[in-house]
Amino acid sequence: MLDKINFEIKERARAVAEEVVRPLASEHDKKQEYPWKVKEALAESGLLKTWIPKEYGGDGLGSVNLCLVVEELSRACGGVGVMFAVNALGSYPIILGGRQDQKEKWLPKIANGEKLISFALSEKLAGSNASDLKTLISKKGEEYIINGDKKWNTNGGVAHYYSVFGVTNPNQVGKPSAISAVIVEKGTDGFEIGKEEDKMGIRCVPVRELYFRNCSVPEWNLLGESEGKGFKIAMETLDHARPGVAAQALGCAQGAFEYASRFASRRRQFGQPIQNHQAIGFLLADMSTRIEAARQLVYESARMIDAADKDPSLKAKANKMAAQGKLFATDTAMWVTTEAVQIFGGYGFMKDYPVEKYMRDAKITQIYEGTNQIQRLVVSRHVAREATSLKFLDQFIPSIDQWIPDELLKEGS
Ligand SMILES: Cc1cc2nc3c(=O)[nH]c(=O)nc-3n(C[C@H](O)[C@H](O)[C@H](O)COP(=O)(O)OP(=O)(O)OC[C@H]3O[C@@H](n4cnc5c(N)ncnc54)[C@H](O)[C@@H]3O)c2cc1C
Repeated sequence: MLDKINFEIKERARAVAEEVVRPLASEHDKKQEYPWKVKEALAESGLLKTWIPKEYGGDGLGSVNLCLVVEELSRACGGVGVMFAVNALGSYPIILGGRQDQKEKWLPKIANGEKLISFALSEKLAGSNASDLKTLISKKGEEYIINGDKKWNTNGGVAHYYSVFGVTNPNQVGKPSAISAVIVEKGTDGFEIGKEEDKMGIRCVPVRELYFRNCSVPEWNLLGESEGKGFKIAMETLDHARPGVAAQALGCAQGAFEYASRFASRRRQFGQPIQNHQAIGFLLADMSTRIEAARQLVYESARMIDAADKDPSLKAKANKMAAQGKLFATDTAMWVTTEAVQIFGGYGFMKDYPVEKYMRDAKITQIYEGTNQIQRLVVSRHVAREATSLKFLDQFIPSIDQWIPDELLKEGS
């Protein structure tokens, strides 16, 4: 895996994180304010090019290096981790499902930081079940007319481009083939940015509702060559983006752990630093171990996503590992950040210190881009499928005939 890691980009991300992100993290969190200064620093440092293919103005460094940047930023502020990564989430539909002329139009401006983008899949009634969208995208002449509302749009309002998913074939509502994706640009008639959410964590990045009322875009904006490809694009996008959420969680865990271990080396109770009390020392040991285990899984899952882009036969493995990495890293982050607050004692509960913010920022990673229940569903389906290739073990486990009385077997036959 080391050969895939670009250590220079990690250093660059760390410099932005320490010089610009950490000093402003608390202020942006309190005010729930978009960190424009951080965005400028990210653009100037060229980090917004990381995941965009070279042909379209990017660095083409793939998922592993995207994760490195997200981890470093999240180590200083979990909100900035997603404020950066959401641009990858929003642009993957173009990268994975767009035509060449569409990529040429939209991607270079995202790579150079001129334009921000977001991903508009979820609706009030369609969260985990993303195939149940109600937003309509209807063909009229040479245009598509969009009608409907989107919920929980990260980057809503600050983004210039929106990857919007909706139903182009109402006869098939509820089925993946009904769904298509279009790009809508901010300022298009009939497209309104709605309510801004007041959030528990990741407060520096806006999450808003989007309203479409007879909003018309050129048919050229439909991603791909034909209608009905939207669900596949959305699912492949989520596979590519999940290691990024996992890296955000990993960075939150690492950041909170560093504060906790430093605090434990300085805070004295009963005549000695609290790290010398075995309960705290062992807790820090477990935190460090789980973070390292999460790190290996996150980077291996990102490596698998990159590998599957070159070799489609690895797609199933990449899908499973992306879910596992997200599941494990985000559960680890929630546990580590909560224990970090515990190690800080009463100080941990106070907003005067940065540690409680990590816990608030970490929580969302278990929910968005597929809740962890949905990740378990994905992994369990792979496990069930893989069990069919383990027939050679049957000779060592109880046979089903031993469990069912003969009479019942006869009745059933
Ligand atoms: C801060 C924030 C930012 C977001 N950003 C975006 C964004 O940029 N773009 C976007 O499109 N979406 C975004 N989302 C939406 C997010 O992806 C959804 O909230 C998430 O997928 C869950 O959907 P839901 O909230 O409707 O919950 P529901 O799907 O209603 O789920 C409620 C509960 O039921 C569980 N559940 C549901 N189905 C099953 C099942 N089959 N088996 C077991 N348990 C199940 C869930 O795990 C959850 O615990 C964001 C959400 C938040 C809160």
